Amino acid sequence: MDFEYKQRTAQERKKVEDLFDYEGCKVGRGTYGSVYKAKNKDRLSTIISDGKEYALKQIEGTGISMSACREIALLRELKHPNVISLQKVFLSHQDRKVWLLFDYAEHDLWHIIKFHRSAKATKKAVNVPKNMVKNLLYQILDGIHYLHANWVLHRDLKPANILVMGEGCERGRVKIADMGFARLFNAPLKPLADLDPVVVTFWYRAPELLLGARHYTKAIDIWAIGCIFAELLTSEPIFHCRQEDIKTSNPYHHDQLDRIFNVMGFPLEKDWEDIRKMPEHGTLMKDFKRSSYGNCNLTKYMEKHKIKPDGKAFHLLQKLLTMDPTKRITSEQAMSDPYFLEDPKPANDVFEGMPIPYPKREFLTDDEEDKGASGAASKQQTNNGSSNHGQQPPAKRARVMPPTSSTASSMVTTEYQHMHNVQGQGGSQQMAYNSGSLTQTSSTATSAYQRF
Ligand code: AMP
Repeated sequence: MDFEYKQRTAQERKKVEDLFDYEGCKVGRGTYGSVYKAKNKDRLSTIISDGKEYALKQIEGTGISMSACREIALLRELKHPNVISLQKVFLSHQDRKVWLLFDYAEHDLWHIIKFHRSAKATKKAVNVPKNMVKNLLYQILDGIHYLHANWVLHRDLKPANILVMGEGCERGRVKIADMGFARLFNAPLKPLADLDPVVVTFWYRAPELLLGARHYTKAIDIWAIGCIFAELLTSEPIFHCRQEDIKTSNPYHHDQLDRIFNVMGFPLEKDWEDIRKMPEHGTLMKDFKRSSYGNCNLTKYMEKHKIKPDGKAFHLLQKLLTMDPTKRITSEQAMSDPYFLEDPKPANDVFEGMPIPYPKREFLTDDEEDKGASGAASKQQTNNGSSNHGQQPPAKRARVMPPTSSTASSMVTTEYQHMHNVQGQGGSQQMAYNSGSLTQTSSTATSAYQRF
């Protein structure tokens, strides 16, 4: 690249801190870095000048890691009302940081469910309203159907990743977020379990994964949606389990399986014929006795939570939480289930025009983060004047293979080749040509940077 051109573009390039106010506005911390609520400050800017609220995600570490690359490559191609939209990518020259700019969503299901659970504990209020559950589930399925139809698996669905828009033109719209683990899967698959020891928080993890399934499938996302649906109906995580081995690379989790069987019963061979082909089937047979779960079934569990077993919601839940992945319903089938055909029909605003009772996101201090974000928030924003509503989602996952700047470049290439099933230099060059929409704030970029 010619030197003068590089100098000129470096001068013209805006830094993320020049464009946005976000200091002191950290709202979350995910697997790959911190998330800030940001407002555009340069109203004359040609990049973004609308006074809207955004979520700025600063990717941890320096350079473009394999995971950031994965998220960027996927997100910039995805456009659906129920999938969070990646607006811009900034590469900061000085500190070699990567920033992703998303639409800002004021709420998420983790906080919404927590609000209801707390209210239930003090006997003040009830579960998430029934119509709202239906609206939420429909939009989650719609977003996932779009991803699945485009050969993308989410692989980490859980309440904290289901965002809901606050007041504004998209009020009450679900946005599926945190696509960091997602990948295209129409390429021949490497055993994904080898790459990511911890991919889905165990509570939402499908039984076939816990029994050592080597590949991710759409059915794994559907199981997670079933878990989220049950949690919306009851305000309790259906397969709640202590999480001790979170960093282990062994997919087999005795306690999590025990919890699933305690709710669902032990799977019969006739219901899940291929269970005997699962890599951990031998361990399962050694560790578990069918007779211990003789009295357990989903009907019993849901009845305990006052959900009628003859209702349409329960029937759909059963189809989503089917143990045999080959028999589990698809997102498309679920969207045309009788549950959604009976009145009231699903609405675009999940709050259906009612006042939003949930507090706005709190700003976190670094201190609180170190303590697991359980302390009081430094600043409190409210929708309704209610008090601090508590902790951030638990158990941030372990990150595998943290990239160093020297390895970033080769990891990007490898990941790209894996995703697109291409060999050698041609693959990474193609990526560079395809990513012209990204904004770079660096002029002396490494080869990984130059791809963007
Ligand atoms: P993630 O890195 O996507 O797991 O995000 C970590 C946390 O930041 C989430 O649990 C949310 O609380 C918050 N967050 C992520 N994305 C957004 C967004 N687009 N708008 C508002 N908050 C977000």
